Amino acid sequence: MSPQTLVISYHYIRETTGLPHPGIHPVKPDVFVEQLARLQRFHPIISPAAFSAWLDGGQINSSSVLLTFDDGLRDHLLAAAILEKQNLRGAFFVCSRPALDGKGLPVHKIHWLRANTPPNDFLESFSSLLPSEWLAVLQQPSAEIQKAATETYQFDSPEHRVLKYLINFVLPYECVDQITSTMLSEHGLDEEAFCQMTYLSPREMAEMAQRGHFIGCHGHLHQPFSRFRPQELLNDISINKSFLNSIPDAEASWLAYPYGSAWSLPDDPDQFAQDAQIRAAFTYERGWNSQETKPSLLRRIDCNEIDAHVSPDAAPP
Ligand SMILES: [Zn+2]
Repeated sequence: MSPQTLVISYHYIRETTGLPHPGIHPVKPDVFVEQLARLQRFHPIISPAAFSAWLDGGQINSSSVLLTFDDGLRDHLLAAAILEKQNLRGAFFVCSRPALDGKGLPVHKIHWLRANTPPNDFLESFSSLLPSEWLAVLQQPSAEIQKAATETYQFDSPEHRVLKYLINFVLPYECVDQITSTMLSEHGLDEEAFCQMTYLSPREMAEMAQRGHFIGCHGHLHQPFSRFRPQELLNDISINKSFLNSIPDAEASWLAYPYGSAWSLPDDPDQFAQDAQIRAAFTYERGWNSQETKPSLLRRIDCNEIDAHVSPDAAPP
């Protein structure tokens, strides 16, 4: 079989000290370094440029790994520096809302609030800001929501898991956005300060691109693409792409779908990629990629899943 590629995804890479409550589960920098060493015992880590040439039909000598980093987090400055020390390069997928609108992405505001608020206080503050129609859903969830919440968040208490499910899958984007902004301001943080502490600046992205990393698209709003109407989706990606086009050397034809699992993808990924002029789009469908894998549906795994795909026991690609 001809050589294949395994794409690995990272989010937060930081020390856990200074986080009063669990809420995010970062990869610690020393664990990241260990993972790089472990991976390279089995497979070379190739640059995004080499991966791109392979997608275009070029040859690689053996099955190889590509490293990707989502969300444009400031954490990725450290990740890029660690990679560069080993002469490695990665692909970093960024949203444009923080830089263009000075607004944080709801998902990261939630992470920050959860990491800095005791769980019951979080539940209480969030509920108190919910519009009445959604508060009623939280207090008296339908059987369908209860079932889905129980299946998705087995380890949380009933009210906590329903809230988590509503936040992640049901509430409108604007609703979570407004509530989390209000909650941040109760912590003395405005959106601009939050963006500065959370996200890479356009200049930092340009510097990373200049050093050989790929900077690609991750949507403007970080809303699941399945939740947009077709024209809204094209609008979101075109804002994201034109932002990247303003960054020298960025790679606006590469995309990681926000969330990336099947439920979050556009109805017709091939057509979408064609309309949006996306050359390579990464999902969270698990597994290795061959040159026959559709470039609009490239497979990718989370960094917690490396052992299942790369180890003496894992089947060779
Ligand atoms: Zn993301």
